Amino acid sequence: MPNPSSKYALEGTAAHQLAEECILNKRSPYTYINGGTVTLEDDDGNQIEYEVTSDMAEAVMVYLKEVTALANYLGQDITGENVEVGFHLDWIDEELWGTNDLMLGVPFDTLYIYDYKHGQGVAVDVENNVQLMYYALGALGPDNPNCYTDVVLCIVQPRATHPDGPIRKWRVSVDALYDFHVKLLEGVKATRDKNAPLCSGPHCRWCLALSVCPEVGKEAASVAGLTAKQVFGDKPLTFPGPNEILPEQRVKLYQFIEQFEQWAKAIKSDTHDKLLSGHDFPGLKVVAGRASRKYRDEAEAEKKLVGLIGEDAYTSSLKSVAQAEKELKKHGLGPEAISDLIETTRGNTVALESDKRPALTIKTASEAFA
Ligand code: SF4
Repeated sequence: MPNPSSKYALEGTAAHQLAEECILNKRSPYTYINGGTVTLEDDDGNQIEYEVTSDMAEAVMVYLKEVTALANYLGQDITGENVEVGFHLDWIDEELWGTNDLMLGVPFDTLYIYDYKHGQGVAVDVENNVQLMYYALGALGPDNPNCYTDVVLCIVQPRATHPDGPIRKWRVSVDALYDFHVKLLEGVKATRDKNAPLCSGPHCRWCLALSVCPEVGKEAASVAGLTAKQVFGDKPLTFPGPNEILPEQRVKLYQFIEQFEQWAKAIKSDTHDKLLSGHDFPGLKVVAGRASRKYRDEAEAEKKLVGLIGEDAYTSSLKSVAQAEKELKKHGLGPEAISDLIETTRGNTVALESDKRPALTIKTASEAFA
């Protein structure tokens, strides 16, 4: 499948580039805000200047503080040899390679490996994380020349909510990692089997073949078959991939999708409301949602923004916090100009029981008033 870079991948690359520059030049990411850029290469090899936002600087700062504190604790300097260290696991298989974001080690003791994740969609667990164990094998090489006994794997993911916080660490012995390499090798071989069994799950979200995968189509059909039986009758539903849909079928499908989305939205909203008002649906829970920023007092914010940037404070209505910050920048002003007007709130959302975020305790109105 083609693998075009998405805007999220580009943003992630930019954040890594910013982190690398800041670590090696001992520079604060905040000094990039208001027009600072990092240089990246696009798919065609052209150089592009990617603008650093305050959100990106804030996230990278979390990573920077963490690795600087570790280097101070170990009494080591971070140099180019520790950052963005490429590896080739040719001692396991020719096609395995990668890059460690940062590694610092104390010979005969512990090797620390950092993986900075800029994404905010899925908060990744560190324990038994095979991606990081793979990175650790890349750092150790075939014969562990520095005689490390343990590896501490660290994920820094400032923009996703995880019950263990933005920095998660897991200590694993070098012996366990070398044991893991056997499993890894088996996995690598299995991918070359033309008839490898398809195994769908949450990981499919990242798969380039998602839209054409027969396994996911089958799963979706069986789920929809259960919930939509009364609506669609006993006719089995199948979900063909985009390449199997005829042009004339697309309009009908689009109508169906629009209706289905509305129905799904209503079910989600109703489930949320019912859970908040004390209903219990085993298998579902309410968890903390993402933080969002809004004006504490819309009228006060409008007055101040108009004073600062005039008509540019509006689109059809008052600009949102993020839009206003962008506009302020064009007027040579920083986000601090309106920081006193903003409050950060965190809503809640429905999640499956398997979600790592803890369930919120919901009080009914009568319990709260009591
Ligand atoms: S979408 Fe299909 S091929 Fe891709 S990971 Fe999921 S099951 Fe495997």
